Amino acid sequence: MSGCLFCSIIAGDIPSEKVYEDDAVYAFRDISPQAPVHILVIPKEHIESAARVTKDNSACVARCFEAIALLGEKLGLGDYRVVSNCGARAGQSVFHLHFHVLAGRDMAWPPG
Ligand code: 5GP
Ligand code: ZN
Repeated sequence: MSGCLFCSIIAGDIPSEKVYEDDAVYAFRDISPQAPVHILVIPKEHIESAARVTKDNSACVARCFEAIALLGEKLGLGDYRVVSNCGARAGQSVFHLHFHVLAGRDMAWPPG
């Protein structure tokens, strides 16, 4: 979608540090890491947020989680947290569905 930061990253118009890509999924390092490992896993299809997942587009969400499991193995992440902020009040700042994968430190619960 034009004007979407993550669509521009998928297209290669904005550089990113890619860690994984397939036909449905792109994964890259967060520009402002909140843990020793902080990866963003995104569907190539533009979906605004978790609130816009439907029967018609949910297959790419499953593909994201397959990629996360693969990355956990490939990068030897050990324990990790997967987070998707849904809506501005929950901390979403980029309105293209994405899963934060955070690893390499102890995680507090509940999050702030
Ligand atoms: P959100 O706040 O929507 O849950 O997550 C958006 C994430 O995208 C943030 O963690 C932010 O650091 C990251 N981000 C924003 N702009 C860029 C960018 O240009 N490149 C990369 N690699 N990450 C970005
Ligand atoms: Zn997008």
